[in-house]
Amino acid sequence: MFSITSKDLSSRARTGLIHTPHGEIETPAYVIVGTHAEVRTLTPEDLKHTQTQAVITNAYHLRENPRDVHDMLGWQGPIMTDSGGFQVFSLGFGREHNIGKVVSIFPEHNAKEFHEPEKNLVRITDEGAYFLAPKSAEGTTEKGEQFLGPKESMQIQHKLGADIIFAFDECTSPLHDYEYTKKSLARTHAWEKICLDLQLTTYNFQLLYGIVQGGEFRDLREESAKYIGSMPFDGFAIGGSLGRSRSQAFDILDWTIPLLPETKPRHFLGIGKIEDLFDGVRAGIDTFDCVIPTREARHGRLWGKRGYFDIIKSIWKDDASPIEEGCACPTCEALTKKELHERFRAKDKSAARYATIHNVFFFNNLMKQIRVAIQENAFQKLKKQYLAIRN
Ligand SMILES: [Zn+2]
Repeated sequence: MFSITSKDLSSRARTGLIHTPHGEIETPAYVIVGTHAEVRTLTPEDLKHTQTQAVITNAYHLRENPRDVHDMLGWQGPIMTDSGGFQVFSLGFGREHNIGKVVSIFPEHNAKEFHEPEKNLVRITDEGAYFLAPKSAEGTTEKGEQFLGPKESMQIQHKLGADIIFAFDECTSPLHDYEYTKKSLARTHAWEKICLDLQLTTYNFQLLYGIVQGGEFRDLREESAKYIGSMPFDGFAIGGSLGRSRSQAFDILDWTIPLLPETKPRHFLGIGKIEDLFDGVRAGIDTFDCVIPTREARHGRLWGKRGYFDIIKSIWKDDASPIEEGCACPTCEALTKKELHERFRAKDKSAARYATIHNVFFFNNLMKQIRVAIQENAFQKLKKQYLAIRN
């Protein structure tokens, strides 16, 4: 299901093709986030015009009425679903550590360590997670809790029918200590084994990725990569707490990726700014997903070679230059900075759509440039060019 088409000579970067039931993904690739089975503001036709190759949606948010995600999205290309674990556990440690509903990836500046919770939203057992969901639903227990475990996650993901699905894992917080993370890792490994057994016997039309956990602790990460890497998953994801800083996240990739099988694809969950993409590809990552292109577009933040700028600011009100010089996206063909600025200021509904099209196109096009550069053995050169413009 994965073929490597070229390799960079001076790093672990490579290009490849992931073959899925709904088509191929040329890697390295950006997977666009469509949390509730829609990429907000975009039509399926828009997705094509942004050169999108794959979309990731969320099993947690779709758990109450799971049906075919290709139909829901109106998108017949490759789709991934995450296991729902991240959302469930972030309900728990977000409260426990006072770091918001969905934890910030690197919470070193805004976390209060081990804040005592008034009320636990998540109760974890060896079977799975009991949680108090924001709204009541079918399957709620007497205590008002819902349950998600490895079998339930696989059942939901099977009904959703995505091409690539993820094993259910406990996502620990960056603030969990070594002892907790170690205990959690054993539980995660047992859950992933249950998911794999189910996939091998029942759900075998989908590709299942195992997830490497272990928090910021090198020995736990290595143990996890060796154990999960030895199992017949179709691919692997590096997930969970990636430490307290950006550089620690890339150390984690360098500890784990050499221990994973060379011949299987690797996904990096939830990170995707420009420099992250270069560093991730360098470390051997094949696919990324991140909300940045879509979420930030809706707030008027536009990405380009120089980083980003906020189109809503009044400095753009008389600027008739292109949004991004040389960008071939439908938005840049249609509108100047001034015109998009006016649409945002007028709260015109089309503004968010135009901005999303540009951002998604920009990141997809950046990945295309990275693929070409790897094939031409010019990856380091492209990385230097991009980082030089930005500094
Ligand atoms: Zn553009």
